[in-house]
Amino acid sequence: MDLGLQGKVALVLAASKGIGRACAEALAAEGAAIALGSRNQETLEQTAREIRERYGTPVLVSRTDVTRAEDLEAIVNATLREYGRLDVVVNNAGGPPVGSFAQFDDAQWQAAFELTLLSTVRLIRLTIPHLKQSGRGRIINIVSTSVKQPIEGLLLSNAIRPGVIGLAKSLSSELAPDNITINNVCPGRILTDRLRKGPGMQQKLDQGVSEQDALKDLARGIPMGRLGQPEELASLVAYLSSSQAGYITGTTIQVDGGLVRSLY
Ligand code: NAD
Repeated sequence: MDLGLQGKVALVLAASKGIGRACAEALAAEGAAIALGSRNQETLEQTAREIRERYGTPVLVSRTDVTRAEDLEAIVNATLREYGRLDVVVNNAGGPPVGSFAQFDDAQWQAAFELTLLSTVRLIRLTIPHLKQSGRGRIINIVSTSVKQPIEGLLLSNAIRPGVIGLAKSLSSELAPDNITINNVCPGRILTDRLRKGPGMQQKLDQGVSEQDALKDLARGIPMGRLGQPEELASLVAYLSSSQAGYITGTTIQVDGGLVRSLY
């Protein structure tokens, strides 16, 4: 299926590795020109080189900490200077730290709010005028299954990520007249550094469990019986960015091998 992304421009954040990178690759594979933001300039440039070589599509990079308003403004401006348009925005970042209620003070709550919700608000605010001009704008927020079913030990994610869902649902009505869609994608357990280097994994390795067995343990409880691959989530992001997905807005879709048991 041709997703109609040739000649379109996509901005992807936290894109030098993991899910963000996979989304950038999926969009590049469909012929979109890409703008990549992430905090580490070296990894960012390496990723950009690899994507250019593999897909032959233009890739621009701009060092971006999503919690810094000035970085978000800089990458949006750089994208427009370079490509003259913007059609797809993928809001992505790292997740807030693991922990329970007693462990977090005001500063940590504030930091989680800035990382998870305020960064999304700011990028959407900056990009709406350009997505309107596109005539078929697409916004995709990478969230977590915590918005469907709270995850033990991830209190900050459980409490703050649902704000992104409320934001997106409200904006889906406001932006529909301009033909802009906005949707949320929830990773279940997707095999990236976040899982490979996460605290649960490290604890098992320290106990002498092999990496293979530790990963098998992480897949326990997933009906599909395995962890997901970043590309499996990125395919959905590419589809939600497509011309064909123009009537899908305000949705929250999990890519989780059946992990979430809730009806909605
Ligand atoms: P990852 O740790 O592999 O990659 C996250 C990237 O975000 C890293 O490159 C990191 O440097 C970057 N990042 C962190 N803070 C940033 C900031 N302030 N500005 C810019 N970049 C920043 O994680 P991932 O698995 O690719 O996860 C992507 C998102 O999906 C995260 O929000 C994560 O919490 C969420 N998620 C992932 C899973 C999973 O199983 N992988 C499950 C649920 C939710």
